[in-house]
Amino acid sequence: MKKSRIAAILAALILGISGCAGTVDSTGTDVNTSTVETEAVENEAESTEETTESTENGRESSEETESLDGTESSQGTKNSGVSQETDNSQDTEGSLVVNFIDIGQGDSILITQGDHHMLIDGGENDQGTKIQSYIQANNIKELEYVVGTHPDSDHIGGLDVIIYKFDCKNILMPEYSKDTKTYEDVISAVETKGYKITHPIAGDTFSLGDASVEVLSPQAGADYGDNANDYSIALKITYKDTTFLFTGDCEEAAEEDMINSGYDLSADVMKAGHHGSNTSNTQEFLEKVNPEYVVISCGEGNEYGHPRAEVLNNLRSMGVKVFRTDEQGTIVAVSNGSEIVWNASPSESWQAGEPKGNAGEDTVETTENSQETGENSRTQEAVQAQETVPIAADANPQGTTYILNTNTKKIHYPSCKSVSQMSEKNKQATNQSVAELEAAGYEPCKNCNP
Ligand SMILES: [Zn+2]
Ligand SMILES: [Zn+2]
Repeated sequence: MKKSRIAAILAALILGISGCAGTVDSTGTDVNTSTVETEAVENEAESTEETTESTENGRESSEETESLDGTESSQGTKNSGVSQETDNSQDTEGSLVVNFIDIGQGDSILITQGDHHMLIDGGENDQGTKIQSYIQANNIKELEYVVGTHPDSDHIGGLDVIIYKFDCKNILMPEYSKDTKTYEDVISAVETKGYKITHPIAGDTFSLGDASVEVLSPQAGADYGDNANDYSIALKITYKDTTFLFTGDCEEAAEEDMINSGYDLSADVMKAGHHGSNTSNTQEFLEKVNPEYVVISCGEGNEYGHPRAEVLNNLRSMGVKVFRTDEQGTIVAVSNGSEIVWNASPSESWQAGEPKGNAGEDTVETTENSQETGENSRTQEAVQAQETVPIAADANPQGTTYILNTNTKKIHYPSCKSVSQMSEKNKQATNQSVAELEAAGYEPCKNCNP
């Protein structure tokens, strides 16, 4: 995979970022004023239909104001939201520029090859104008591809603004819809502009200038029930000898399908799946991708606890260099086809997120969180059901608790290393004996030997 020699160096040396901040701020201010008003009206409308989401928006709007101010005043700690300035545009002719825009919790990635531009995701509802300013600061008026990886609000929330404000040639979304105001807003933006949405499937290919783009997920006819994340559009972008992988919020099931489809998943740079969640980024998937660099797009102190310790531990033990938008702001990678340079040094913190509060009682939840809560409560139900099953008196004399992987059908001791790497949704505790579990089709882990 790594024919190319890849180096990470500070962008200040290469991109000369700081010089353009003034231009961008002034551009951004004008645009923000008008669009923010529009959004405020939209948010008001949402409050009647979608109480949860409008509360979230309201809260984040005020945070956003602070963070924008913060960005302007303290560029030293985080990168300003701007990377490529106008005088750099001639240099991008022979390069692929990938901007992981810091939009808090969510994804928004701007990819440029020469005059060809692609936006993957548009962050939350209140991030549209920030992304708009970022794109305009790069002197871009037309987006050849706009990808909404999946209909969760932290990915398509700001896309309506982008679709209204830019000339969008192709809009790609999976064939999976969601009954939310956020989703409707995107659809009405598409309809207002007279655009059509394309549903790409695995195996489709297209080009972005001199870069080639391959769709790796979702597979044709894939059915992931109501797990929006697994329907995420996954793309591998190859520019000469360098490769980048973007899997949206694909979780374990979709990752497994990509592996089973036999695609060459290897990539120099991988955007961590689902903001570094442990429901994605399985060790097997990471080994197939074998990235040199991973970028985690997540919000500082996010309530989901992204990125998770298991994922960071795996990346660290694989010797992967990690960049994080929550710590480092906007991350920019520039490939000249053989080397990839970055606007920051890799993060050395290895600091895992911490899930906040009791999700079940929290009324301020995003769609994604409700989904995760749903999964947790299903697991709890399963565990409770398990516990109410009468256990033969001598079946498990020590009262040992085992941890089951309901997917691989393995029995583990709670201390087994595999348990910490297991996806929450496959994890189940039990007091049943090994013999009973074997009768139910489980087999003991060969490492911890329960
Ligand atoms: Zn997400
Ligand atoms: Zn999602």
